Amino acid sequence: MPDTAPHTANRPALPPEIARRRTFAIISHPDAGKTTLTEKFLLYGGAIQMAGQVRAKGEARRTRSDFMQMEKDRGISVSASAMSFDYEGHRFNLVDTPGHSDFSEDTYRTLTAVDAAIMVIDGAKGVESQTRKLFEVCRLRDLPILTFCNKMDREARDTFEIIDEIQENLAIDVAPASWPIGMGAEFLGCYDLIHDRLELMDRADRNKVAQTVRLDGLDDPRMAEHVPERLLAQLREEVEMARGLLPTFNHQSFLEGHLTPIWFGSAINSFGVRELMEGIAHYGPPPQPQRGGREVAPEETAVTGFVFKVQANMDPKHRDRVAFVRLASGHFQRGMKMLHVRSGKQMAISAPVLFLAADREVTEEAWAGDIIGIPNHGQLRIGDALTEGEALKFTGIPAFAPELLRNARAGDPMKAKHLEKALMQFAEEGAARVFKPMLGSGFIVGVVGALQFEVLASRIELEYGLPVRFEGSQFTSARWVSGERVAVEAFANANKGHMATDHDGDPVYLTRLQWDIDRVARDHPEVRLTATKEST
Ligand code: GDP
Repeated sequence: MPDTAPHTANRPALPPEIARRRTFAIISHPDAGKTTLTEKFLLYGGAIQMAGQVRAKGEARRTRSDFMQMEKDRGISVSASAMSFDYEGHRFNLVDTPGHSDFSEDTYRTLTAVDAAIMVIDGAKGVESQTRKLFEVCRLRDLPILTFCNKMDREARDTFEIIDEIQENLAIDVAPASWPIGMGAEFLGCYDLIHDRLELMDRADRNKVAQTVRLDGLDDPRMAEHVPERLLAQLREEVEMARGLLPTFNHQSFLEGHLTPIWFGSAINSFGVRELMEGIAHYGPPPQPQRGGREVAPEETAVTGFVFKVQANMDPKHRDRVAFVRLASGHFQRGMKMLHVRSGKQMAISAPVLFLAADREVTEEAWAGDIIGIPNHGQLRIGDALTEGEALKFTGIPAFAPELLRNARAGDPMKAKHLEKALMQFAEEGAARVFKPMLGSGFIVGVVGALQFEVLASRIELEYGLPVRFEGSQFTSARWVSGERVAVEAFANANKGHMATDHDGDPVYLTRLQWDIDRVARDHPEVRLTATKEST
């Protein structure tokens, strides 16, 4: 696997602290093994001592009631939102993407904060629906993707078939970094095509790192000591075919998102995980420039960052919120005063938090590429920029029009004001859209997936002690209205029964008919209806 020059070569060298950072997310269809793989990463990164510590989270996702339990136990799900650990001289920042398809909006935003993604697929199932959706988002951002084909210890598909499916389904070149030897009960391990060595899996101890046998290529006579003749013949034939038919790894194409290297393994048996981590460390991009109105380079000395996620009520006793900030440039130090660009106010960042696997810890410093948590009382919102004075505006953090709308009603009518406060808080957190209609009272809540209503109801009850009901709304679609202020106001006044404002006070047009939306587009060229809004 030749290592061609990365495209960062024509940029100035990064300070070593920034160059050693790798900020990435894992994308997968539920059940492919993301949690298991995360756990092994943390294990090798020394962030946890024993496999099983993050397992609780994966298991919790199985049923809905357990999911609520997980939501109650904010400690687990929150510390898992961003995890930092060291591996062979590199600092890995692993940003968690929610696995459930109902939380896709959150996932999209998360992917704005990373420089690369690992795509985990199940060797028996190949590319599944959620994998494809998430992949498309990565493609929109040209994110480099590393692929891990998991569960090779079970009956999996033919290796060529898996690779073909990825190439055809996702329209990306696939270069094998390793090649599996046998599969299912016969799975022995992999031949590492990068280092020309044999990696053998130890089935007896799932937490043990695989045995590595250094060889002089596939024809090394020592191969026969480890691999039975039949499998060896098959391996030689397949690798020869693969080398003839499949693309070889090209660093530049990988960094541009046109080619993905694939490793085969078994996360549960800790097999193939180390090679994948080495792949990220060695080939993965260091922190990349971010779009902040201009290109913000990581090596710039002024510290900048943007909020991509807000989590409220991490501790129900204190109504604090944590804003997750991706640092785009500079060397951040605790206590720094930063400009909160949206409000124009200075903020002293006195208790920034780094998320280290099981705990969150106040950190003294952080660098471009890192994800820090900033506790605050609601000033920080998704899309907000923090700088040392420059009025940057980070773009590309979308808000999507919700696909499901319902009226929110307080179980106790006397508590309507409290409900408003709770809803606004969730709106700012990005957990739901909340619209206040121009006419009448009450609120309309919009989400992307139905499960979010249940989670919201449960959290409002738990965190605010308010019973809430979500009832059918006469509207089914919401569109943001933009244009000249006068035009928008005139449009709103003429359509009062359809108008509402979101939590930022921006005008929204509500309807139940696509026909209405088409009509507005045709008859009112002075305003624009959009299904997405950039947060700021
Ligand atoms: P997630 O939903 O993507 O986070 O998947 P999990 O990591 O929770 O794994 C889903 C299921 O697959 C669990 O029962 C795991 O024990 C199992 N699993 C994960 N990796 C492997 C593997 O390499 N081999 C086998 N046989 N099972 C695995």
